[in-house]
Amino acid sequence: MSDTLDFEITLTERPATADERARVLADPGFGRHFTDHMITIRYSADRGWYDARLQPYGPIPMDPASHVFHYAQELFEGLKAYKQPDGSIVTFRPYMNAARMNRSARRMAMPQIPEELFVRAVELLVGTDKAWVPDTEGHSLYIRPNMFATTPTLGVNSPASDYLFTIIASPSGLYYPRGVKPVSVWLSQDYTRAAPGGTGEAKTGGNYAASFAGQAQAVEHGCDQVVWLDAVEHRWVEEVGSMNLMFVYGSGSNARLLTPALTGTLLAGITRDSMLRLAPGLGIPAEEGKINVDEWEAGCASGEITEVFGCGTAAIISPVGHVKGSDREWRIGDGEPGEVSMRLREELIGIQYGTRPDPYGWVH
Ligand code: PMP
Repeated sequence: MSDTLDFEITLTERPATADERARVLADPGFGRHFTDHMITIRYSADRGWYDARLQPYGPIPMDPASHVFHYAQELFEGLKAYKQPDGSIVTFRPYMNAARMNRSARRMAMPQIPEELFVRAVELLVGTDKAWVPDTEGHSLYIRPNMFATTPTLGVNSPASDYLFTIIASPSGLYYPRGVKPVSVWLSQDYTRAAPGGTGEAKTGGNYAASFAGQAQAVEHGCDQVVWLDAVEHRWVEEVGSMNLMFVYGSGSNARLLTPALTGTLLAGITRDSMLRLAPGLGIPAEEGKINVDEWEAGCASGEITEVFGCGTAAIISPVGHVKGSDREWRIGDGEPGEVSMRLREELIGIQYGTRPDPYGWVH
């Protein structure tokens, strides 16, 4: 039974010294340094999940014919571990990541991983490498589960029969080292991220490979991030960079939140889901719906839309201050992060770092 699979544990003979670790943790950046160990679990169509290991972090020998290199049968996840005031360590909603990984797997014709096995693997890696979970306020340990097709065959008519599931972890610093600042965004007309029936709601590498040209174009236009519009009419707002978008209408006790509905072309962000549940608890009604670029521009011009922000595991929330397209441009707010955005951010961070109660049972 794969959900009761035992891990074979091989600890590294050369762990980072306390000094080496301290140097990394002083300025971890994002995704540049990795902890001492990693998880690997193999899968084959006839055996199911087998050969579960915790082993020293390092390269994985791969056959150049491996299915993933040619046909990109791959998916990944992203979550974080946070140090609590009492020194213990929690992860945030890991079962949501396990469930999303399995939804991605279904779309990519890849195997399902038992959620318990996924979460046990996360716990084992974080527990073993707990010295890498930063103490610094706002820092965390980013956890990256990944699954890819290893069958060495160029046959393209069927999915692979062999897969490797891995988890690596990387200490992560502040997304905004100099304080949260609104970003500028580019309305992408030339590129789309996801089409109906495509893979937009799967967290698969190909979506990101296809997004780099759009992101580069945003930067060429002097913007920080790209806004993805729908692939059919090129006007319905979907996501920003690799974050979900939230629109705040009104202010004070009249504020309400709208986020684009999950149409199949958006990734179902776990931060998005958390915002949709946190906001009503703070007296801010939240709904899923549709908004197009004309409504966005008009809403900002009339003052009806007061704040806009992206949200995701990495940045938590990222306020949007300036929108630019090929034939239009407008500002949102006064260049400072909005009140509702920051309130939701504080609330979520408080739950993650254990400085606020967690009525939702989100920390694990
Ligand atoms: N959209 C995309 C395309 C993403 O890659 C991510 C990051 N996983 C998100 C949204 C936000 O998801 P989450 O809140 O789960 O990090």
